Amino acid sequence: MKKGVGLPVFPGVAIGPAVVYSKAQRTLPVPSGDPVVEKAKFDAALEVARGQLTELFEKAKAEIGEEQAAIVEVQLLMLEDLDYLDGVNMAIEGGAAAAIAALDTGEEFAQVFAAMDDAYMNARSADIRDMSHRLYDILCGNTGFSLPDGSFLLVAEDLAPSETIQLPRDRIMAFITRQGSASSHTAILARTLNIPSLVQSNITFEDVENCEVLAVDGFTGTWYADPDEETLAMLKQKQSQAAAEKNALEAYRGKESITPSGKKILLVANIGSPEDAIAAISADAEGVGLMRSEFLYLGRNNLPTEDELFEAYKQVAQIMGHRPVVIRTLDIGADKQVSYMDLEKEENPALGLRGLRICLTREEIFRPQLRAIYRASAYGNLHVMFPMVASVWELKAAKALCAKVRAELEEEGVPTREVPIGVMVETPAAAVLANELAKEAAFFSVGTNDLTQYTLAVDRQNAKLGEFYDPYHPALMALLAYIAKAANDNGIWAGICGELGADPKVQEQLVKMGFTELSMAAGRILETRKRICNMEE
Ligand code: PEP
Ligand code: MG
Repeated sequence: MKKGVGLPVFPGVAIGPAVVYSKAQRTLPVPSGDPVVEKAKFDAALEVARGQLTELFEKAKAEIGEEQAAIVEVQLLMLEDLDYLDGVNMAIEGGAAAAIAALDTGEEFAQVFAAMDDAYMNARSADIRDMSHRLYDILCGNTGFSLPDGSFLLVAEDLAPSETIQLPRDRIMAFITRQGSASSHTAILARTLNIPSLVQSNITFEDVENCEVLAVDGFTGTWYADPDEETLAMLKQKQSQAAAEKNALEAYRGKESITPSGKKILLVANIGSPEDAIAAISADAEGVGLMRSEFLYLGRNNLPTEDELFEAYKQVAQIMGHRPVVIRTLDIGADKQVSYMDLEKEENPALGLRGLRICLTREEIFRPQLRAIYRASAYGNLHVMFPMVASVWELKAAKALCAKVRAELEEEGVPTREVPIGVMVETPAAAVLANELAKEAAFFSVGTNDLTQYTLAVDRQNAKLGEFYDPYHPALMALLAYIAKAANDNGIWAGICGELGADPKVQEQLVKMGFTELSMAAGRILETRKRICNMEE
């Protein structure tokens, strides 16, 4: 037996034969030495690639849905990219063979994307590399890859987006890649398929080629080549326990979340990116209750542009389709700091310029967000909510800008839809003013993480405060009951998007109070649905 580790991206255990996925050996065609001939070859390859990708797009759309097919669509668009095409033409004119020009230019662009301080653009680097490899393969006369019959664990250096799409999903028991990250396409696919998988593993192709049985423990991030009897027994035991638990929950997939007394609760996901929306769908989320849009601002050196925000929101809207998506406007400040906004260092940042306060004082930051949300509204069922509201005037001011932005877009001829505007109730002031705010809002979503911090005056970041950070505190429960009643009395819905929403200890109490939406990590949806459907209220 040989064993090693990797970064687990989905829990579970898989045991079976392994297949190494490696790309076909490529033979480089002899260059003609004539740029005109090479250019003609490249143009012909572009046509072939366009045909292949269109076919792949249709297949992906029919078999796995539009959200995954969008990966292929991106590459179809890249085939038309003028910068890429100019780069290839320049290389050909400089004497390069078409295959090399396609590959090298793709690599150059991929490196530029990979170096950007933006997760979305980094992901595009894999797309452009994948697309230029396709052109290279066509120009070298290579065709696809072949996999054996039956189910298997797939081991690869890494998998490109279009490769993952072509894989026979029903036969893959697990992925183990040597590269990739928790947000790589392989990891996303693993979560979509609910199969145990490791990325960044230390497995070698020799380990796989020399073994008969490969096993992956996605709970601990361990792989075993030819596990001994004791290990195999342990893994099988884990496997059957996990399968029993998971299977039991599967009975709740596709069902509505309704209590025995008939209360309908919407179970939705908290997300930070379009990739998370894909995971939300595969976890059977009924929508998105909180998109923490600040994740689009973190880990980069400059403000995202309106177009970048629009693309991200549009993707989420399209992935979620008719399901409701609540986008929270930027909640930067306090624990989430970015250097490029030039926010002054504060003595007490949790009580400082954060959330909606930044937006209301810096319209150049707020306006692009709202424009992006309204532009993306045409693609799905978007809602918007504001964090850290403490006064009715703040909500009114934010709503006024929403109306202005929508009118501007209409004037520009950009289609928009009605976007219900809600309040994130996470300050005690907002809770106490719930009746007044409810008259101006379409919904409430309670941020219990901050509401606990501000109600109890306990820093949520300070681990030493331990038991003093008590989300079950009677003061908090009283505020929650008050918020739900105010919402119901005023004919709007109220949900919970803080951690308390996924907490089995209080879910029944929250439902009894009158909350009709619970937003949580996608992986908690099915177990919560089971609880809701069997509640004693
Ligand atoms: C909350 O405060 O409960 C919440 C959901 O928002 P965040 O945790 O992002 O502050
Ligand atoms: Mg909060």
